[in-house]
Parts: sequence; structure tokens; C-alpha cells
Amino acid sequence: MFAFAVLFILCVLYITATILTHSLQDLLLGQNPSEEQNSIIRALFSWVLIPVIPLTIISGLALLIYGIQAFALRDRRKPLACPKCQTEESRIVGRMFNRKPVVGTDWQIAVCPFCGYDWHIPR
Ligand SMILES: [Zn+2]
Repeated sequence: MFAFAVLFILCVLYITATILTHSLQDLLLGQNPSEEQNSIIRALFSWVLIPVIPLTIISGLALLIYGIQAFALRDRRKPLACPKCQTEESRIVGRMFNRKPVVGTDWQIAVCPFCGYDWHIPR
């Protein structure tokens, strides 16, 4: 996902620098470019732009889908609650259960910080 983010930022920067501000053109050509230099640069930019536009759209969509999924998953996941006193685990208020992995299994032991009750939960 990091690669998509980098790709998206690079594509947006390229589009901004070439089409919106012409800053890249000014940087490459200097103050008084000839008409020939101008047309070469314009042709070069438009050739690079052909793959850049779909890449921008694809990476932007991938980031959007990832963001929606992460948001939906975070929303759906229920907090862990102690079976004895019903205290819910909450990262926001810093109330976390102690977890100890059970060696050789896919389970771990959770210990409630309030009543001291311990029980098995999947990792
Ligand atoms: Zn408890």
C-alpha cells in the first residue's frame, strides 16, 4: 500500500509540475527557451503523461479502497470484553488486557486488569 501512496504522490506532483504550474518546464529550459526547445519539452511531457494519468487514477482508487476497507474493519471489530466483569478493552482510554501467548498454540491468555480473571482468546 505504501508503494501506491508513493506512486500517487509522484503522479500528482508530475501533473502539477507540468500541466498546472509549468514549473518543471521553466526549471529545465531556463529563462528564454527557444521554440524548438519548447516543442521538444512539450512532446516529452505529453509522452510521459500518457502512462502517468492512468497510474494516478489506479493508485488513487487503490488508496481509496484501502482507506474504506480500513475504516469499515475498524468500525466492525468489537472490543474485547472480560467475561466476568464485562470490562471492555479500549485503546483510547489506555485500558488494555494483559496478553500472554500460549506457546505452541494459536491461543493466548488475556488477563483482566480489574478483576484479575484470565481466559483464552485466539491470537
Ligand atoms: Zn474482569
